[in-house]
Amino acid sequence: MSCIFCKIVAGEIPCHKLAETARVLAFLDIMPIARGHLLVVPKQHVELAYLADPALSGEMMSMAVQLGRAAQAALQCAGMNFLLNCGACAGQVVPHAHLHVVPRFVDDGIHWPWPQGSLVSEDAAALVQAITERMR
Ligand code: AMP
Ligand code: ZN
Repeated sequence: MSCIFCKIVAGEIPCHKLAETARVLAFLDIMPIARGHLLVVPKQHVELAYLADPALSGEMMSMAVQLGRAAQAALQCAGMNFLLNCGACAGQVVPHAHLHVVPRFVDDGIHWPWPQGSLVSEDAAALVQAITERMR
């Protein structure tokens, strides 16, 4: 087992634990984007969050929302980002699914420079059809 988050779940390497349930663990990010940056991970090894059991993803989000609310009260942040990087091309470095909760402050200098495209209506119709007919 070489996965760093599996080792954290197993207690083989330490973490600053915030909360856990039978299926989910939350701890502070060791290289935080902002003060209070935390991660919620499934205890079971799943690489890509979108391939996890939707109920498990729901538990991750439920814990993230509860911790986000508590972090807001503790840190008095003005907002927060909930972020899932899935796959190396999407910025995932640790190949064990994890939901980032990043407290945000006014003028904190953090920017995600995502380009804005434009949605063409014929493509929108094709996309809606292609995606919805594959939904399971
Ligand atoms: P990602 O780019 O979405 O894969 O993010 C991985 C995150 O895991 C980064 O924000 C790292 O700072 C964080 N990280 C890596 N190793 C550890 C660790 N041992 N304990 C806590 N956070 C970690
Ligand atoms: Zn793992």
